[in-house]
Amino acid sequence: MNTSPLFVQISKDHPRYRSLVVREMMAKRVEEGIVAPTGLIAHGRGEAFDYLLGERTTENARRAEMVAVAMLLDAIRPVISVNGNTAALCSKEVVGLAEATRAKIEVNLFHRTEERVQKVCSFMEDAGAKEVLGRSPDALLPGIASDRARCTREGIYSADVVLVPLEDGDRAEALVKFGKKVIAIDLNPLSRTARAAHVTIVDEVTRAVPNMTTMVPELRRNGDRRLALLNSFDNQLNLEGAMEAMRANLSAPQSEGKE
Ligand code: ATP
Repeated sequence: MNTSPLFVQISKDHPRYRSLVVREMMAKRVEEGIVAPTGLIAHGRGEAFDYLLGERTTENARRAEMVAVAMLLDAIRPVISVNGNTAALCSKEVVGLAEATRAKIEVNLFHRTEERVQKVCSFMEDAGAKEVLGRSPDALLPGIASDRARCTREGIYSADVVLVPLEDGDRAEALVKFGKKVIAIDLNPLSRTARAAHVTIVDEVTRAVPNMTTMVPELRRNGDRRLALLNSFDNQLNLEGAMEAMRANLSAPQSEGKE
């Protein structure tokens, strides 16, 4: 196993410093068995869309984040579904959001092996999660042929609202068909996940999750605001807004230094 220290060859002056650091970290998590090798490809697709978006949280995304927080706060059994990429990118932030919204955390992996499930669950616990579901699935989500159907009765199976950062389309669609309110975090507004979800946050997961946590106290106090947000939200318009933000960013004069 490569034990070379992380980030060693990346200069802080590099214009893409953060992106390169994250890539190194993700490669390391692949070595550790947290991230699946194909997770790197999914990450690259996310990076490409974030580039189009200007690597910032748009007003459109901020609104979707508020709606998502309102939905989590009004839920009876909210669950945050965590995969390898989400754990690698923002385990502590997910724990913070789960605590703030009283959501359960359940690990669900596309490339599922018992060993990987154990590793990702432990990784979340090391990040501070008190209870992580997913080690012992005892239910099946209807409509999915793969191992991803396996979930827990206490968690995803009986949830009313499920937050799925970085989901694949099949499972997002199956969750919706099974009657769940689905919140997705997905930088690709064209993906099946983005189109299937009730609320799609088109933002980078490491920006979206902490943003959401900061929104909790105010929205928890204000039921009228939550209701107004939920009643006025249209995910189709939200996705169109995300695409418009990308178009506008492409038309804007490009800043120096991007490569
Ligand atoms: P679908 O199956 O929904 O049509 P897909 O085949 O692209 O989409 P995956 O390959 O599972 O699904 O990719 C995961 C999705 O997560 C991609 O759409 C990608 O844009 C998005 N993504 C990857 N990294 C991030 C990130 N850090 N933050 C937000 N979204 C991300």
